[in-house]
Amino acid sequence: MESGTVETKVGANGSSGAAEAETLEVLNPATGETIATLPVDSPAAVAETVARVRAAQPDWEAMGIEGRYHWLGKLRDWILDNQDRILDTMQRETGKVRADASNEPTYLADTINFYGTQAAKFIGEESVRPHSPLLAAKKLRVQYRPQPVVGIISPWNFPLILSLGDAIPALMAGAAVVIKPSEFTPLGIAEVAAAWKQEIGGPDVFDVVQGIGETGGALVDNVDYVQFTGSDRTGRKVMARAAETLTPVSLELGGKDPMIVLRDADIDRAANAAAWGGMFNSGQVCISVERIYVEEPVYDDFVAKLTAEVGRIRQGADDARNPMDVGAMTSPNQTAIVEGQVDDALAHGARALTGGKRVPGPGDYFEPTVLVDVDHSMKVMRDETFGPVVGVMKVRDSEEALRLANDTRYGLSGSVFGERANAERVARRVECGAVNVNDVLVNYFASDVPMGGWKESGIGYRHGAQGIRKFCRTESLVITRFGGRREPTWYPYTRGRRGLIARMTKLINGRDWRRRLGLRH
Ligand code: NAD
Repeated sequence: MESGTVETKVGANGSSGAAEAETLEVLNPATGETIATLPVDSPAAVAETVARVRAAQPDWEAMGIEGRYHWLGKLRDWILDNQDRILDTMQRETGKVRADASNEPTYLADTINFYGTQAAKFIGEESVRPHSPLLAAKKLRVQYRPQPVVGIISPWNFPLILSLGDAIPALMAGAAVVIKPSEFTPLGIAEVAAAWKQEIGGPDVFDVVQGIGETGGALVDNVDYVQFTGSDRTGRKVMARAAETLTPVSLELGGKDPMIVLRDADIDRAANAAAWGGMFNSGQVCISVERIYVEEPVYDDFVAKLTAEVGRIRQGADDARNPMDVGAMTSPNQTAIVEGQVDDALAHGARALTGGKRVPGPGDYFEPTVLVDVDHSMKVMRDETFGPVVGVMKVRDSEEALRLANDTRYGLSGSVFGERANAERVARRVECGAVNVNDVLVNYFASDVPMGGWKESGIGYRHGAQGIRKFCRTESLVITRFGGRREPTWYPYTRGRRGLIARMTKLINGRDWRRRLGLRH
């Protein structure tokens, strides 16, 4: 099964219940303990929540960018003041290590400041010069008006970054927001929504609904724009459902990110980057390094260094006295996918230089794994793994590396290591939404530039101007500055007017004087 499908996922964290259970049972994947049971929101409850925030949205929009930044600034301060509380919840519901969880508050505070200070540039009213003398009497303006209600459906790997992280630009744009988090990780975002209401006292434009497919589907039915992050399989369902109401969607889906290591790379840096980029968050990152193509002359050195670095990784449930590098798998479904892909590769001739197996419980862990002797006939090099596994292939040259890197239905991001100019040249030819040169994953934190998937990795972009404009409807204003009783194009249609229009068309659009003046050629 691909990561998370509603037909087979019952309850949260694999707990029991009907396909659409009335409660979600939330487990701590690091220990296997049940940590909460939450009621599921029915479609009627979702419709009610959307209607409530919709009613409050016009006042929120009317506040303007500064007014909204004031409230989001309070949210930023709450995040900064409550980091430990947030990180405790993140760790409990995902099983990730503290260091991996700590990216969440950092990213969220930065995103509030980024859009708070850049929103006026990205969605402020634009004045446009008319391109044609025929429009000389017109004043042209473009204004970005928010979609009234944005629905956000999010996955479990970064419970706040991938829900609140998109809510921030939507709220900055003036939209109201309702989030449906993953059923595996519903607690952190519920805590933020409660704080927005009770501790911050924010306007009633932000709420959370809980559930799985039925709740998500109801959200799609009721909102004006859908921001979905998750598997391409669920993304297709969301898009089909949104098509019924012609609701626009942005889909941030899976990836199978390649890394290319050129012969002139700093091999220590490349190997350390591959280890971190492949194992960070137990590999449960849409932009994690999954496939590595290394030019022949440096292949042995790279593989030896990568294997040593991955072999040193400490894995387990961490605490302040005993920090770990890699934590648990958040969803048991995902562990089964990872195990299936690795077993398939080993059965077809791959070798695990380190790792290769599920770790016995308690908790749900898969060993950090480096596979060699892999090829594109194996699932592990074709399908998204979303676990702590990298496959490494030797290539003759950069052309072969590019051919293999681009041989995928995905196109989320990638990385190239090598002498800067050489690596940059190769990076420009990788077919995906973002490429890091001599680094990994860092593009997610470069909010200044857009990030989105090509091919089956998604539709639309987050970050940059696109990351906020997508939550807006564009309204063009064509304002008449002066004009008489009628325009030459209006009634009555006379012969004189017909001739005038033909002469004007030549004069304005001709690009040589004979034509412009209507002289014969
Ligand atoms: P998933 O597709 O199983 O679930 C995503 C969300 O959709 C969850 O909230 C789920 O409850 C909801 N959902 C399930 N069925 C639904 C339906 N029929 N209608 C509406 N909503 C429904 O994904 P997941 O397993 O939670 O997350 C892992 C996937 O997310 C991976 O493929 C990963 O690559 C992808 N991802 C992408 C990005 C990105 O930015 N491109 C970031 C993180 C994760």
